[in-house]
Amino acid sequence: MVTTSKKHIALISVHGDPAIEIGKEEAGGQNVYVRQVGEALAKQGWHVDMFTRKASPDQLDIVEHSPNCRTIRLTAGPVEFIPRDNLFEYLPTVVEQILKFQQESGVTYPLVHTNYWLSSWVGMQLKKIQGSKQVHTYHSLGAVKYQSVTTIPLIAATRLATEKAVLETADRIVATSPQEKEHMRTMVSTKGNIDIIPCGTDVRRYGSIKRQEARAKLGINPDAKVVLYVGRFDYRKGIETLVRAVNLSQLRSNIQLIIGGGSRPNQSDGIERDRIERIVDELGMREFTTFPGRISQQELPYYYGAADVCVVPSHYEPFGLVAIEAMASGIPVVASDVGGLQFTVVPKETGLLCPPQDEVAFAGAIDSILSIPEWRLEMGQNARARVEKMFSWDGVATQLSELYTQLLKQPAEVA
Ligand code: UDP
Repeated sequence: MVTTSKKHIALISVHGDPAIEIGKEEAGGQNVYVRQVGEALAKQGWHVDMFTRKASPDQLDIVEHSPNCRTIRLTAGPVEFIPRDNLFEYLPTVVEQILKFQQESGVTYPLVHTNYWLSSWVGMQLKKIQGSKQVHTYHSLGAVKYQSVTTIPLIAATRLATEKAVLETADRIVATSPQEKEHMRTMVSTKGNIDIIPCGTDVRRYGSIKRQEARAKLGINPDAKVVLYVGRFDYRKGIETLVRAVNLSQLRSNIQLIIGGGSRPNQSDGIERDRIERIVDELGMREFTTFPGRISQQELPYYYGAADVCVVPSHYEPFGLVAIEAMASGIPVVASDVGGLQFTVVPKETGLLCPPQDEVAFAGAIDSILSIPEWRLEMGQNARARVEKMFSWDGVATQLSELYTQLLKQPAEVA
């Protein structure tokens, strides 16, 4: 017999595998979010199953992360990496596989928290079929994203329609910043229920390494001015703006530029990485620029710890975990004046904001922080305090937990 437990919940992240290595191919903030939220919710007493798609035969079908928190990889379509824009056709199989998994394990999820528009489609079906409550986090909004890209993919119309449908029908949408909520209201729909619950970061891991120790470990000169980028190699991340800004910097000759992230050759981010490396070479910056590749979560605190400033030059950023990781490490952030970065970075208090793609403005902001060490330190301290107050995973999970509890008290409706 199928039992319904109020404490079993499913986090669905079809293309963002919470158990995978972060920082290469398409793996980034969403994978971190689902994994961290899942583990923090499990600590608060929920039984958390995180569903994703199996993308390689080497991957385990089930990965146990902690008591009551596991990743379940479903076979839907070919067991290989498929770019997210080509995944829509496999979603009905994802729904079937979740229903089959429920039947075999004897648990029906009373609540599903879906991540990104692909998973929102899956959640809407589960809501219709079995009345599961649906909470949804977008991670990226097509309506905003398509304004900042030159080629619009074929899937765009389906994505926009799905994003509108889930906003209007989910039990609750979680916007991760007031800016994201505003985008939903002005560009997607005026209907639907939205709460603002931010993303979080690990306040114990970041901020624990002293600058001297970090630089010694990474072999960085104690006197260098270290400018750090961490993230995927994706055109919308604006790495070119950072490179051109450092080239214009008055302090260019003292700077060590670290561009972290990316994967092996021939992977999906290779094109952007090659392009950025070409620009670095053309501008004669190779000598003081390093590309360490993917940085593991264990190594990251050393990179942030060694940095003087972290730059997040995205064209569009729904939240931007890297900004709060740097802030938690006591490092000021120079970021584009867009999306969630306008929420996390407080200008002149925890960093500076610049118009996106404006290398002159970025150069000026980087220089002003690097040339006044006392101000840099003060902003770093403010940044750390802001993250402790607003962006810890435990705090985020507590807010989500309260939301789930409230929704589960309401009677289920099956269409
Ligand atoms: N990241 C990592 N190693 C890398 C590059 C990135 O662990 O080499 C992590 C980074 O620390 C952050 C996430 O990937 O937690 C990126 O999230 P963000 O929200 O900044 O960007 P997204 O990838 O979602 O666009």
